[in-house]
Amino acid sequence: MTTPKAVGNATGVPTYLRRRVAWFVAGSVFLGLLVVLISWLGQRVMPAWAWIASIAITGSLNGVIWSWFGKALEREQKRAAESGGRVCWTCGYSLAGIAKAGVCPECGQGYDPETLRSRWGVAGGEPASP
Ligand SMILES: [Zn+2]
Repeated sequence: MTTPKAVGNATGVPTYLRRRVAWFVAGSVFLGLLVVLISWLGQRVMPAWAWIASIAITGSLNGVIWSWFGKALEREQKRAAESGGRVCWTCGYSLAGIAKAGVCPECGQGYDPETLRSRWGVAGGEPASP
């Protein structure tokens, strides 16, 4: 067992996860509207228990999708920390084992180790070679 490297605080959300954020926000808004709709209409057409239950379920679903996103971000940060920050910020491609600086083979975005490390919040130093 090796002590995991400090999983830093990435500065913001990686580009490839941002699209997911947009979906989560959309889903969250949708669920919010659903709660409003249910509380507005449901009271008349549903029995009280079903009305309360559907509000509770929809509301907690909202929490669930956000914690999923938190988990995904955590996982990506861990992955980046393990490879010394060598994960493409734009698309999430692993840059381990290829040139220290250059162009991502997956998305064509330029990268350099300093920028990647500071973005991922990973401490300096190269990880041990495999
Ligand atoms: Zn890339």
